[in-house]
Amino acid sequence: MLTDYHLHLRPDEPGTPPQRYFTAENVARYREAAAAAGIEELGVSEHVYRFRQALDLWRHPFWEEQAQDDLDAYCEFVRGAGLRLGIECDFVPGAEERTAELLGARAFDYVVGSVHFVGEAAVDHEGWDIWEGGDAEEVWSRYFEALAACARSGLFDVLAHPDLVKVWGRGRPLPAGDLRRFYEPAVEAIAASGIAVEVSTAGLRKPVGELYPSAELAAMCAEAGAPFALSSDAHLPEQVGYGYERALELFAALGVDEICVFEERRRRLEPLPARVGENP
Ligand SMILES: [Zn+2]
Ligand SMILES: [Zn+2]
Repeated sequence: MLTDYHLHLRPDEPGTPPQRYFTAENVARYREAAAAAGIEELGVSEHVYRFRQALDLWRHPFWEEQAQDDLDAYCEFVRGAGLRLGIECDFVPGAEERTAELLGARAFDYVVGSVHFVGEAAVDHEGWDIWEGGDAEEVWSRYFEALAACARSGLFDVLAHPDLVKVWGRGRPLPAGDLRRFYEPAVEAIAASGIAVEVSTAGLRKPVGELYPSAELAAMCAEAGAPFALSSDAHLPEQVGYGYERALELFAALGVDEICVFEERRRRLEPLPARVGENP
């Protein structure tokens, strides 16, 4: 089985109100794209910070500006559309209890836990760029510490784009030498928490031009016994299932032949096909 769980029904840009994107027509476009890509399990995971309720978790100026929509209307729409109901929820240190409350009050099939911000700045957002004045060693250490805390929090089912810090590729400083020293604490937390690790093809569309996680980090996760989830992080229908051949090559190289499927926050493993469009 192939899944695409980390989907957004709209781009992240401003001027993308739910009335225009949370429509039956738009869902039909995503479904068609999924069917064409051989994807059976489709779920939506909108960014938590686009909902007013997220301001209970954090009042970062970016969140204040983004938190326009109603979370319950979103849940109702996704359920009504017959898609798996997910959410991409940032890990906000110190807001663990409020996050658990917000998530527990709604019938999600799965929750994708993300680290975009480290402190007040973001690793993937030019408006809040952590790299201004940041040194590579420090940024990477802080990012993977935050990722470890995200995994360890126990709030989430899937750990999103696990090495997002590399998103800019050569556009930002890279730490020298073996990168495993950054991965190790996160892998330890992943193993301890049992969280599923997302293989995301979104990195292929970004300056870095690689899957998240890197082959090396993925191998460390596999060795630690972590289960994997598969997603494209599409923000447009044409990005659904993008680059899945590459993800299947990674899984094959790792000897991973099953992926996580979620329902009502329970997880089971389903066999992966060897190639896109083939039955397992
Ligand atoms: Zn994300
Ligand atoms: Zn996303």
